[in-house]
Amino acid sequence: MSEFDFDLFVIGAGSGGVRAARMAAAAGMRVAVAEERYMGGTCVNVGCVPKKLFVYASAYRETFEDAEAYGWEGQKDARFVWATLRDNNAKEVTRLNGIYRNLLANAGVHIIDGRARLTGRQQVHVGDDSYTAERILVATGGWPFVPDFPGSEYAITSNEIFSLEVFPQRILVVGGGYIAVEFAGIFAGLGAKTHLSYRRELFLRGFDNDVRTFVRDELGKKDIHLHFNHEVQSIEKLEGGALRVTGSDGEVLEVDAVLYATGRNPNTRGLGLDKLGVVVHKDGTIGVDDNFRSSVTSIYALGDVTGGPELTPVALAEAMALVKHWQSGKTAEIDYNNIPTAVFCQPNIGTVGLTEEEARQAGISVAVYKSDFRAMRHSVSGRDERTLMKLIVDKESDRVVGVHMVGADAGEIIQGMAVAMKAGATKSVFDQTIGIHPTAAEEFVTMR
Ligand code: FAD
Ligand code: NDP
Repeated sequence: MSEFDFDLFVIGAGSGGVRAARMAAAAGMRVAVAEERYMGGTCVNVGCVPKKLFVYASAYRETFEDAEAYGWEGQKDARFVWATLRDNNAKEVTRLNGIYRNLLANAGVHIIDGRARLTGRQQVHVGDDSYTAERILVATGGWPFVPDFPGSEYAITSNEIFSLEVFPQRILVVGGGYIAVEFAGIFAGLGAKTHLSYRRELFLRGFDNDVRTFVRDELGKKDIHLHFNHEVQSIEKLEGGALRVTGSDGEVLEVDAVLYATGRNPNTRGLGLDKLGVVVHKDGTIGVDDNFRSSVTSIYALGDVTGGPELTPVALAEAMALVKHWQSGKTAEIDYNNIPTAVFCQPNIGTVGLTEEEARQAGISVAVYKSDFRAMRHSVSGRDERTLMKLIVDKESDRVVGVHMVGADAGEIIQGMAVAMKAGATKSVFDQTIGIHPTAAEEFVTMR
């Protein structure tokens, strides 16, 4: 009989926590998971899932507009009803919460609803109850960060945006990363007058420069008002509820909502880590080694709370690598190179590997193949939307070291490209591959 209540106590039932708990239980460990808010974590409740549903909703506007050229009349009168989308999203999220709870329960994981804090190196408190465990896994994710400025209390974040009572007819989105760009697209598509404010010259820092300028131009065509080199100085609430936003350029905007998408902070506050000697970095992330072990041997951490790429598949991969490590005793196997990612703006960005700038900085002798075209769908619709595809090739080895796309379904297309890159595909392998016609994706194997 073990001296501990559990072999593993997981704090947080998000992407990483649920996967680790299920896999550990399947491997025969006695597992508990504590969740304070919602089953499935950020991704299911206020992240990837609702975001993608809202992206689908927002895309209908252009589909309706373009339909007439394809012979469908009467679509232009379509009217968007926010409450329908909001409530159907809430129903879907509730359904998924139930699925996650069942998955855990069916795997034999003991579920504890409540906020957990560490009270010992092998002890956790939830409410008035105390539990002991041989290992503790902190998978508490992150929380939106909003800077402090006059009126910042009127700003909302991605946590609130999916459940707003009333659709904001005018919205200002602040930030220049994934969430800002995705939500600017969503709200413009749903019909809001949409502004995006970003503090530097060009948003999407870290993405390939051609991708950044291309997306700037495409979003501009969708009537998204882009304010670069712009900072919000204050927000005032007017009678009637509208918000008056004063920018660093002196311009005043009147909007119904201000969405801050200025990054996320790790959820480590109040967990009791400092008292136990767990090394927490200045930015709040938990320091871990290659096996996700913190500076205290019984305490592990993974996912967003450790500050790696904040992506669900990364948290899942870390969870699987950790449990395999516990089973095998071998170093956790996880490759952070060439992680593909998509930004679900319209058109989508899909990207894997090095940007042209990174490849050049790394001293690689770079060959660039680029294609910028109007997708076939728009030859008839007449929509002025373009697609960009770009391959970065190491001239010496002929290896493809970066693949970038802005265009319809870029996220779907780049997943396959990531497999090719993982397999070490060269440009000549791309050239030898026969295309699928007529698709946009075939362009990747026909660029010369
Ligand atoms: P989380 O999923 O955040 O889970 C942490 C859980 O811990 C939460 O449920 C929280 O309530 C719980 N918790 C925290 N503290 C405690 C405590 N003390 N006691 C008990 N429970 C606690 N990623 C993608 O790959 N693709 C996307 O399209 C995508 N879209 C996104 C859109 C938005 C708007 C946001 C915000 C994020 C998006 N992400 C996306 C990122 C993705 O959601 C995260 O990377 C992922 O959820 C991280 O998983 P995690 O397990 O580390 O943490
Ligand atoms: P990001 O880190 O992607 O972007 C944050 C943005 O806010 C940057 O443009 C940053 O500017 C800006 N910013 C930071 N601090 C301030 C400030 N004080 N004032 C003004 N602007 C500021 O964070 P997000 O919030 O967009 O998303 C969090 C993470 O969630 C993402 O990094 C991503 O990993 C994940 N995610 C993934 C998605 C996907 O896979 N499709 C979708 C949504 C989220 P600067 O460039 O100058 O630093």
